[in-house]
Amino acid sequence: MRAMSNPATAIPSRAPSAIAADDTVMPFEVAALDLRGRVVRLGPLVDEILEKHAYPQPVAKLLGEALVLTVMLGSALKIDGRFILQTQSDGPVRMLVADFTVPGKVRACARFDKQRVAAALRSGQADAGALLGKGHLAMTIDQGSDTSRYQGLVAFDGGTLEDAAHEYFLRSEQIPTRVRLAVAEELRAGEGGASHRWRAGGILLQFLPKSPERARVADLDPGDVPEGVEPHTLPEDDAWLEGRALVSTVEDVELIDPALSSERLVYRLFHEPGVRVFRASSLRAECSCSRGSVEVMLKSFSQDDRDHMVENGKISVTCEFCSANYVFAPGDVDAKG
Ligand SMILES: [Zn+2]
Repeated sequence: MRAMSNPATAIPSRAPSAIAADDTVMPFEVAALDLRGRVVRLGPLVDEILEKHAYPQPVAKLLGEALVLTVMLGSALKIDGRFILQTQSDGPVRMLVADFTVPGKVRACARFDKQRVAAALRSGQADAGALLGKGHLAMTIDQGSDTSRYQGLVAFDGGTLEDAAHEYFLRSEQIPTRVRLAVAEELRAGEGGASHRWRAGGILLQFLPKSPERARVADLDPGDVPEGVEPHTLPEDDAWLEGRALVSTVEDVELIDPALSSERLVYRLFHEPGVRVFRASSLRAECSCSRGSVEVMLKSFSQDDRDHMVENGKISVTCEFCSANYVFAPGDVDAKG
């Protein structure tokens, strides 16, 4: 380590931590290239959520990716609230929902067509694009009141969640962004035979220069350009080209490796320009449903809708995220009650 020559600007530097911490998100900054990003590392959290749902393997993998992306984007929220990521599409996997509640609660679930997923698996057409099909990805920030609900929407057709995220940042935010997502089952030999557990991880990189000139997105489609006219294209900034090239070298195994710390991962990528890391925050799998919130929801329905929900003299509601079951006597959830 070099001596601090200028005490006014020196940032203490140290070796990257070797300790890998699961279920965390760690922000970082590469000041020399105007890059900022986050590394997400999920261990027991993603295993708990995916194991509980027991979805077919490719559906679980997709939901794991959605979860990583949700943590990546939701953890940028500075104030209390919830970030919700949701896909809706015409493929065998009709819907993926994951949400992140500040400061670090996450949950996720999927809706899919069993037969179509099985058919896709049999035909060997079970990659992300084939499973999702055509539809859209919605990202909502919910801060409690209706007025602060903000939604971003992007269409996708046969691509991955990474592709959809890139498209979203290009169109809606106009921030040059690269996202890498990885999910895998780790097999380990044990006493009772091999056991497996889910692991997931990802890295987000964004180019955020101080000068607005450099922040312009180069590869945005200019729209209606008359035939024969070359669209005006901006050259990509060298710093962003370098950052993007570096992040594209990250392999899936590096993103999920339980022995590779988030600090070592970013150091591996950005040791040359220099990288600054910020305190990682921890995440946990926890649903936000409650008997009280289900009661409020039931009371908001029409009497007719509630009457249709009565079975054997009871209204039973199961949370799609965590499978918690809430049972009410019809009289308990009357609008008047
Ligand atoms: Zn729940």
